[in-house]
Amino acid sequence: MKTETSPPPSAFILPMKQITILTTGGTIAMRADADAGGAIPQLGGADFLAALPRDLAPIRIEAFANLPSAHFSLDDLWNLARRAAALGADDSVAGVVVTHGTDTLDESAYLCDLTIDSPKPIVFTGAMRTVSEIGYEGFANLAAALRVAADDAARNLGTLVVFNDEIHAARDATKTHTTALATFRSPEFGKLGHVYPHAVYIARQPARREFIPATRLEQNVHLLKLGVGMSAALFDFVVESLAARGVVLETLGGGRVPPTWLPSIARAINRGVAVVITSRVGAGWTMDRYGYTGAHHDLVQLGCWFAEGLSGPKARIKLMAALGTTHARDFFATA
Ligand code: ASP
Repeated sequence: MKTETSPPPSAFILPMKQITILTTGGTIAMRADADAGGAIPQLGGADFLAALPRDLAPIRIEAFANLPSAHFSLDDLWNLARRAAALGADDSVAGVVVTHGTDTLDESAYLCDLTIDSPKPIVFTGAMRTVSEIGYEGFANLAAALRVAADDAARNLGTLVVFNDEIHAARDATKTHTTALATFRSPEFGKLGHVYPHAVYIARQPARREFIPATRLEQNVHLLKLGVGMSAALFDFVVESLAARGVVLETLGGGRVPPTWLPSIARAINRGVAVVITSRVGAGWTMDRYGYTGAHHDLVQLGCWFAEGLSGPKARIKLMAALGTTHARDFFATA
């Protein structure tokens, strides 16, 4: 593991606890490369340190990986969360910043949020433009994330996502645009706060905090999105041929499936597979009062679990963590 440290503070500054930056790759670390035919991760700790303003808290940089986030394995995700947890438990560390590819940043951040029990800020950030492009915003995002990680106001808020000077709760934040700089949004309840030039301002507390004491991630968990008239064959395949331990369904609207799915869901639950319901809509809980076949009441009756407003990818992260305990059912609603 490679670590780099910022220059020691001048003698008249009282010693301060460090913020540790865990670098993992992503566009924030990418530069155009002619041989590769496009941008690839190349920036390391020294590049970040050289670009950061000098008026920040002392910084230590640790290279965890230098990967596009699509290359992360579930083992990588788990190890990253455990490393962030260890840093959170280290008395010499005041906060942790993780630089990460934006494509799966919300999943890594949410895993940290669920499985790290620490008052210290753990702040994820990244960039939408490479350092080779005009308007690269990586250093600005990193500086903002560092200011949040060093600020007492950010303690006890769980894992945070800082982008475009906005502070979001990891549970709520999601990538909403393929190229926009302000891509991370919290569609249901909005951002927690803002990084102003003179202050970190927290306007509200996270809507919800949960801790799952997982000792591992159950990796045989899958995510399926429903479309109108879609057959349940893929679901059956995942349950029967892949022997899934859990399946998350991004169902229609407030939690509806085509009636033809009900026998498959019933069979899966009878085999002991955890079937977790969320919505493909993008915001809002699943819940309805419809009486027709395949509506929410049928899913309750079959014994599905409900993810209460989580996106499909985050519901999968939660189910993998919950199945890494002995009491997964306790972490989900059942009606
Ligand atoms: N492809 C990049 C990644 O997720 C996208 C980014 O970081 O913005 O690693």
